[in-house]
Amino acid sequence: MPLDRAKTLQDTMTQWRHQLHANPEIAFQEFDTAKFVADQLKSFGIEVQLGLATTGVVGVLSKGEGDCIALRADMDALEITEQNTFAHASKNPGKMHACGHDGHTAMLLGAAKILAESGTFRGTVVFIFQPAEEIEGGAEVMVREGLFEKFPIQEIYGLHNWPSMPAGQMAVGPGAMMAACDTFDIVVKGRGGHAAMPHLVVDPILASAHIVTAVQSLVSRWVSPHDSCVVSITKIQGGDTYNVIPDEVVLKGTARWFSPELGCEIEQALRKIIEGVGKSMGCDIQLIYDARYPPTINTPIEAQVSADVMASLVGETNVNRNPIPSMGAEDFAFMLGKRPGCYGWLGAGQSEDCPKLHNPHYDFNDDLLSLGAAYWVALSEHRLI
Ligand SMILES: [Zn+2]
Ligand SMILES: [Zn+2]
Repeated sequence: MPLDRAKTLQDTMTQWRHQLHANPEIAFQEFDTAKFVADQLKSFGIEVQLGLATTGVVGVLSKGEGDCIALRADMDALEITEQNTFAHASKNPGKMHACGHDGHTAMLLGAAKILAESGTFRGTVVFIFQPAEEIEGGAEVMVREGLFEKFPIQEIYGLHNWPSMPAGQMAVGPGAMMAACDTFDIVVKGRGGHAAMPHLVVDPILASAHIVTAVQSLVSRWVSPHDSCVVSITKIQGGDTYNVIPDEVVLKGTARWFSPELGCEIEQALRKIIEGVGKSMGCDIQLIYDARYPPTINTPIEAQVSADVMASLVGETNVNRNPIPSMGAEDFAFMLGKRPGCYGWLGAGQSEDCPKLHNPHYDFNDDLLSLGAAYWVALSEHRLI
């Protein structure tokens, strides 16, 4: 049984996870992490290729002729100062594994060891350890640098620990799992001057306040109530003191959505809204819109296979086959854009109020390591018969 085999590695995986947690590295700087991963894979007798997306590591394990599937983990940490004080807390100031990618890496390494030593499958498993999942889109860089040309991958699978779901449960469904993520900057140019003589200035602060309010109508009045969409302004920067109206204000924000048709419309709607405010307030307003991550969309057959494998490990009642997708984003979307596959969640919650992802108190739940590794093993052996 995959779970029994994985449990024999529980202590080893915990050790790896703590070592990774204590030595976090951020986007495209995962040099020590990549070396650790590559050394482990080689010690299992797995062929390793380095260099994709700078610090990406790809392991290839073939057992005879057959199909080829890829399993993906992410290796990067976040720019967060860890607040935990346990022995394996971050030794790198300002950097922290607060999204559990240390656990993802340890679980996939565990699965690689089991599959190399005792995997019963025909074909090839490709183990992808990608850099820079957080914000920088390391998955896109790996795809651009030839991941799918260099390796004959037919299907691809991802898994994220999910503290909002109780440990022992898993989830995967067809269609959208995670939203798209766009970011934007709005530069509001007015004409600064004396705060006591507002009739002589063009006030970008007042225009910005109108923009923040008007943008709220985008989701409520442009988007169909049957579609999900978020548009948030997250930063306003302008002005220095009490008696000066500034020349310029810069706003930043993000849009999240699932349907590609809607995604195409958001930028245009935003542009129209701010142009209208600009005209009415006499300001020159520029929108810089950046489509960052597409939505993460699971293909139906692979999602069903994945859910069946989950059910074989935790029981049908502990598998959510139709989860409500998250408005968070995931760069695994770029890999899913190229091959069939799916992205699932591994319940990680220990209590209602346990720290969630990206919290400075977060720590990957080590109890999940065996289950996560067992999932990868079971999926590989199920898919490559
Ligand atoms: Zn994250
Ligand atoms: Zn993450």
